[in-house]
Amino acid sequence: MCGIVGHVACQASQRSRQVVLDGLSRLEYRGYDSAGIALARPGELDVIKAVGKLVNLREAVDSEAPADAYAGIGHTRWATHGRPIVANAHPHVSPDGRFALVHNGIIENYPELALELDRQGIFRRSETDTEIAAHHLALEYAKDGNLLAAMCRLASRLQGSFTLVGMAGDSEVVAARRNSPLVVGLGEGENFLGSDVAAFVGSTSDALELGQDTAVSITADEVTVVDFEGRPAEGKRFEV
Ligand code: GLU
Repeated sequence: MCGIVGHVACQASQRSRQVVLDGLSRLEYRGYDSAGIALARPGELDVIKAVGKLVNLREAVDSEAPADAYAGIGHTRWATHGRPIVANAHPHVSPDGRFALVHNGIIENYPELALELDRQGIFRRSETDTEIAAHHLALEYAKDGNLLAAMCRLASRLQGSFTLVGMAGDSEVVAARRNSPLVVGLGEGENFLGSDVAAFVGSTSDALELGQDTAVSITADEVTVVDFEGRPAEGKRFEV
């Protein structure tokens, strides 16, 4: 299980890109084979991935000169399902390009979930268990247009271990965890997510540890924690 970083800010700038790339660098110690980032601005989601060291991802990001973003998610992958190639690196994206998802862990019941996608004619571009969850997040979102509720419904269908972090726009990042860690960093006009406090240390020392089977939504100025049934839940506040 490798590294995850998420960030939402109240202004579009290069900040999300920096926070996510720097957070991934601090999580490098965990080991990984590939990495990727998604950056969101109104109506656009830029996804960039690279195999090998983070320097390759940084070069790819720099060469594409990304526009200012309001939010971003990033991942360093240690392959469990599928080879360490660009197509299998996270974030994984829904067919319409609106949803991006990163994942640490293993989704044990992915074959059944994959079969449901096959029956609906939803084409997959990778060999991973994670991409299947990305498509199901989009399907769940289509039911009520509520990203946190969609993440809760998705998480309650999954077996195995996961920290999932997803986005579907530029103002909210959602996450869920089971048997895999997830922490929130509380900032001023910005908030953070990480698989470990190293993801945001230096940006804030105010953090929230999330309990087993909880989900969270972060915007620039709000943090909402719920259980997988959508009932209010609380994290454990601590200083980094
Ligand atoms: N099972 C996922 C994959 O193989 C996530 C691996 C990880 O935790 O980095 O893509």
